[in-house]
Amino acid sequence: MTDDSSETKAVPVLVPMPAERAYSYAVPEGMHVVPGSIVRVPLGPREVAGIVWDGEVEALDPKRLRPISHVFDCPPIGAEMRRFVDWIAAYTLSPPGMVARMILRAPEAFDPEPWTEGLRRVAIEPDRMTTARTRVLELANDGLAWTRSGLAHAAGVSSTVIDGLKAQGAFETVMIPPQPVVAAPDTGYAAAELTPEQQAAAAMLRRSAAAGKFAVTLLDGVTGSGKTEVYFEAVSAALDEGRQVLILLPEIALTQAFLERFQDRFGAKPAEWHSDLAPRKRERVWRQVAEGGVRVVAGARSALFLPFQKLGLIVVDEEHDPAYKQEDRVFYNARDMAVVRGHIGGFPVVLASATPSVESRVNAEQGRYARTVLHARFAEAALPTIRPVDMRRAPPARGGFLSPVLLSHMRDTLERNEQSLLFLNRRGYAPLTLCRVCGHRFQCPSCSAWLVEHRFRGQLVCHHCGHNEKRPEACPECGTLDHLAACGPGVERIAEEVVGHFPDARTIVLSSDILGGVKRLRLELAAIANGEADIVIGTQLVAKGHNFPNMTLVGVVDADLGLANGDPRAAERTFQLLSQVTGRAGRTGKKSLGLLQTFQPEHPVMRAIVSGDAEAFYEREILEREKAVLPPFGRLAGIIVSAATRAEAESHARGLRRAAPVARDIHVLGPAEAPLALVAGRHRFRLLVQGERRCDMQSYLRTLLANGPKVRGSVRVQVDIDPQSFL
Ligand code: ADP
Ligand code: ZN
Repeated sequence: MTDDSSETKAVPVLVPMPAERAYSYAVPEGMHVVPGSIVRVPLGPREVAGIVWDGEVEALDPKRLRPISHVFDCPPIGAEMRRFVDWIAAYTLSPPGMVARMILRAPEAFDPEPWTEGLRRVAIEPDRMTTARTRVLELANDGLAWTRSGLAHAAGVSSTVIDGLKAQGAFETVMIPPQPVVAAPDTGYAAAELTPEQQAAAAMLRRSAAAGKFAVTLLDGVTGSGKTEVYFEAVSAALDEGRQVLILLPEIALTQAFLERFQDRFGAKPAEWHSDLAPRKRERVWRQVAEGGVRVVAGARSALFLPFQKLGLIVVDEEHDPAYKQEDRVFYNARDMAVVRGHIGGFPVVLASATPSVESRVNAEQGRYARTVLHARFAEAALPTIRPVDMRRAPPARGGFLSPVLLSHMRDTLERNEQSLLFLNRRGYAPLTLCRVCGHRFQCPSCSAWLVEHRFRGQLVCHHCGHNEKRPEACPECGTLDHLAACGPGVERIAEEVVGHFPDARTIVLSSDILGGVKRLRLELAAIANGEADIVIGTQLVAKGHNFPNMTLVGVVDADLGLANGDPRAAERTFQLLSQVTGRAGRTGKKSLGLLQTFQPEHPVMRAIVSGDAEAFYEREILEREKAVLPPFGRLAGIIVSAATRAEAESHARGLRRAAPVARDIHVLGPAEAPLALVAGRHRFRLLVQGERRCDMQSYLRTLLANGPKVRGSVRVQVDIDPQSFL
């Protein structure tokens, strides 16, 4: 292609659709686009936003192509981001268009933010002064531009006073540029005085951030050891190099406290990015990240797809957290993709955790990642003593779930005016409801799952599809009245038991069911930190990251939950969750205790938590993974086939199995009906593809899918590379 203007130019454009490649469009005369430009193009009967992509267009006559209709006035998506999109698409076997779609999530931000009209004082005196007018003019005499409402508000007068002054010629109209969503961070604002151990870790991270080369460091430190303070030093170094920084957090409930800590260190908050952000705020953050004005973003996994101009560091906090895995449309693990992004961008990545994933530990041991360890809690804070409560020897009273041992420690804690946390990773009142007369069990009509009773709402709810129904008085099967029994506990039921034992204690139940959403949740978390509750009963939402200074007792209601679910990571996950939740205790030097209610106190996970010997646990777990050729010593991919009927799903899954090529280093297991055999009315079958570490899993899967039966009717096939869930 030449620049001869008589020739129509054509470019590839990636549109946010399940498109396997970029489509070709003509560039109208006089329009200027570069790779990365965000454009609007016709697609079928509609117009969509897309990104001008790299590479050549197909050899079509450009004159026959449809033209790009508009180029947005927006910084182009950088080359690193474009490579990142292509990389993820190839790795996860997703259409590149669907990956690009994750960048294009803030369409209003493609146009520049509008300037707003403002007022500036000019040297004309109004003919008549009032006290209100005097107040306004005193403020406006600073010579700066004010918005009408801003000035009225600051002066404590109504806007009509401003209008009157304007009519008198006391103001000229000026245009005010868009304001930054967050102030610039100041790296010298308030650096913490680090302990020698923290200093050593911080120095290592600082060097890495300042070097501006790709490197991954695992920051491994017990809960409360100051990992945040330490990685702030890396953030500071990257900012001093003029780079942007991304900090990934697994849980948006955690962001509020985090933003404040960041502000204490850098004098300004980072921009936040998560699904709960108001649309207008979202657009402004996106735009200012693209323009480079926002220097630091703290966000959920989707923040990886913000259009950074000069990203120079990614921190992944709580890197082991399963919330980093997205299992919707594009299946990806944000922790792993952060490392890929760093590799493409040539900058360092920090993975922080008190309980690193086995994958990251092995990467560190084999020298692919550096590792730095914080052994001690900060200041006089000591880790809690952990003890098992053998439920066979000290069983709860009839109908209860709390052992007398745990109850007695709760009583002591209350008497000392300290806080207790009871942890149970089960929402609602009871996971199963059955009829005591006929044995009928309440099941979701569209899922293979029991309905969970939510007594507070008076409903039976499916946690997979959201189906809910009123809890009836009579059994729908045999009609007997008042003989429905709740089986097993959820947090609501534990709260009921607690209130029975400690009617005067201030008790809070926290789960994602909380009325009032994230806002309310933040308030409750702050209230707990301020000591406004005596006993907290919560799901994993309270287990992660929070700092509750007065909490000295953590009771795990069912430590065995999650050990028996056939997931290759069951032991690792339980170890991580129990370490995290017991780590909520003893943040401020008071003696603290963690109690694990368990039927298998001799289980290696319980022994590791009780002894505090994490190293022994990792060693054993790593060895077992190696023997079984499981990640990170081997590769896994899940193929999930779903359809409206069981027969369709099964026959397609079998067809895929038959299409599986023979390979020396890869084999296929299944198909088997998925443990969650029915979800939202769709029947599910799974295949598991297992390969050796060096196998070419992606090529294998591509061949398998290409040779397999055509996807038709209601059939859907999802590929899950590096699966975290096996349900
Ligand atoms: P982690 O992230 O490892 O759980 P944090 O960074 O949250 O630990 O630190 C735990 C607590 O100790 C926080 O309240 C933090 O402010 C405090 N802290 C840690 N290191 C220091 C330090 N060097 N100076 C002052 N406070 C510190
Ligand atoms: Zn359901």
